[in-house]
Amino acid sequence: MGDDGEAALRQALCAHGRSLFARGLSVGTAGNISVRLPDGVLMTPTNSCLGRLDPARISKLDRGYNHLSGDRPSKEVSMHRAFLEARPEAGAVVHLHSTHATAIACLAAPGETAPIPPLTPYFVMRVGRSLPVVPYFRPGDPAMEPAIAEATARGARAVLLANHGPVVCGRTLDDAVYAAEELEEAAKLALLLRGGPREAHPAARTLTPAQVEDLLTTFGG
Ligand SMILES: [Zn+2]
Repeated sequence: MGDDGEAALRQALCAHGRSLFARGLSVGTAGNISVRLPDGVLMTPTNSCLGRLDPARISKLDRGYNHLSGDRPSKEVSMHRAFLEARPEAGAVVHLHSTHATAIACLAAPGETAPIPPLTPYFVMRVGRSLPVVPYFRPGDPAMEPAIAEATARGARAVLLANHGPVVCGRTLDDAVYAAEELEEAAKLALLLRGGPREAHPAARTLTPAQVEDLLTTFGG
């Protein structure tokens, strides 16, 4: 990738940030995004607002995750490193505090692997079979990294950090952002379909194990 490729990725990162912020998927300075480069990683700066990122001030890290240029990186850099190191095919990682996915992260028990049922095909296709719930850690706690690495080592493309929010990887920046958006929509559906008197609100129909298998076989798991 030449300088043009990196410049285009910086622009794309800022455009996705603006879009996520405009739709309320990130508020204030919540959320951060990383993109793998041939010679390192681009990362949103610490205390930056996804709605107002400046391509020239994006943090650049070397392959050892040392800060090279731009503003200082997010203090959640180790969360991104856990994914990028455990999933060599991942080109980008998106972490949000999006409302519905975070609500599920407050309801689900740490260790659970399917806190959102397979309600729709696009959730299965984008997020996959499992969504492990990683125990709660204070943001920036180094102990979070091995916990995420352990969860992703079993093949997960996304995790929910208990009482914190989702972390999602993708082959490309677009893939990772779209998967994070699909996860938020699936969480919203799961919450909409919860509860209520059984007679008025029968349990939602999920995709069957055979339908999930068919999607993962056809579109890759
Ligand atoms: Zn966070």
